[in-house]
Amino acid sequence: MAELKLSDMKDLTRIERIGAHSHIRGLGLDSCLEPRQASEGMVGQISARKGAGVIVKMVQEGKIAGRAVLLAGQPGTGKTAIAMGMAKSIGEETPFACLAGSELFSLEMSKTEALMQAFRKAIGVRIKEENEVIEGEVVEVQIDRPAVSGAASKTGKLTLKTTEMETVYDLGAKMIEGLGKEKVQSGDVIGIDKASGKITKLGRSFTRSREYDAVGAQTKFVQCPDGELQKRKEIVHCVTLHEIDVINSRTQGFLALFTGDTGEIRAEVREQIDTKVAEWREEGKAEIVPGVLFIDEVHMLDIECFSFLNRALENEMSPILVVATNRGITTIRGTNYKSPHGIPIDFLDRLLIISTQPYTEEDIRKILDIRCQEEDVEMSEEARILLTKIGVDTSLRYAINLITASALACQKRKGKIVELEDITRVYELFYDVKRSTQYLMEYQSQYMF
Ligand code: ATP
Repeated sequence: MAELKLSDMKDLTRIERIGAHSHIRGLGLDSCLEPRQASEGMVGQISARKGAGVIVKMVQEGKIAGRAVLLAGQPGTGKTAIAMGMAKSIGEETPFACLAGSELFSLEMSKTEALMQAFRKAIGVRIKEENEVIEGEVVEVQIDRPAVSGAASKTGKLTLKTTEMETVYDLGAKMIEGLGKEKVQSGDVIGIDKASGKITKLGRSFTRSREYDAVGAQTKFVQCPDGELQKRKEIVHCVTLHEIDVINSRTQGFLALFTGDTGEIRAEVREQIDTKVAEWREEGKAEIVPGVLFIDEVHMLDIECFSFLNRALENEMSPILVVATNRGITTIRGTNYKSPHGIPIDFLDRLLIISTQPYTEEDIRKILDIRCQEEDVEMSEEARILLTKIGVDTSLRYAINLITASALACQKRKGKIVELEDITRVYELFYDVKRSTQYLMEYQSQYMF
């Protein structure tokens, strides 16, 4: 199996969404999980952040696999921002996958396959491998360089010893390369990774060199040799189940992970992988790391998707599911029934519900200030006051959008900082939802039916 890092994969997901929330670096909590008024890019929304912090703690302690959380609140009250904050504070190694409900209907695969892939992107497998490493003090290095240079034709001998034995190694070209790079000499203490042939210099032997003191802990084993030439080193890789699926699926191939074009994965492949992973777990070679799956616009899911989620959460490897919606009582897609948030009652019953509240004027001002800093936009005091007022009267998101637009207007008139006139200009140029609706109502008769 190829070695993959989770961090590489994270960069591939939903880059366009990260822009709007790039100022969010965590949930902004102190060590007692109390939210600071403004921290890590987060402002206000105190009780929702506190709830989210408790969930993060439970995830970190491995106590919450298979549970689900609902972030419910009006548009623009920071649901996605809080989910982002959770992901950031959970830590590098915990997998985080996110998708919007509507995406499920636009992908070239069945809805349940897309959900299954999202689930498996949020389940990590920490695989432990043991590598044999030979450690010892170099007694002698001999490299026979041929008259015409060429690494492949080089041969050599390396004599390694511990207090109890002395062994001569015939060096392959790989090792000679390693030696050349590390400049190993007699008296060095080295480790040779048997699988890769990589030679690492660990220090100098004090029997041959005064450099010993300066090398410190690295030479510990020379001081207390255990007489064993073969040592074992643990290597840990973290991958997601989805990455294992793709790599092992003959029709996919490793590159599919980078293009995002993974297509459907056959059920047999997943079954085989689950069996293999279960074996590794039993042998102590692997651990499951349940991550977080975030589904925005959860009201866009239909009844089939909800029954899939219900079942998937029962699986012992299930990640924690965080869903968000800004809908009130509405129809459950695929049925004629209405329910709170468009979520079936039995599924709703499983959810821990965190609600987000509308922002105060002060919160809106602070969020706008943070966004100005994030976008490197300087703004006069009057302009900030006006933009905050616009945020209160229309929506936070509309006001955030005006930041970039007003900076462009300022640039156009060759100004240095955004002034009142720039904000007024872009406010007149771009309509918010309220004005746009009003306009539509006034001129309805002139539109096509
Ligand atoms: P919707 O229901 O429309 O999807 P939402 O509740 O998910 O909205 P967000 O998209 O999270 O709202 O918020 C709108 C913008 O305001 C984003 O750029 C977000 O990063 C920012 N924002 C929201 N709440 C906060 C907050 N508490 N602190 C800092 N920034 C915030």
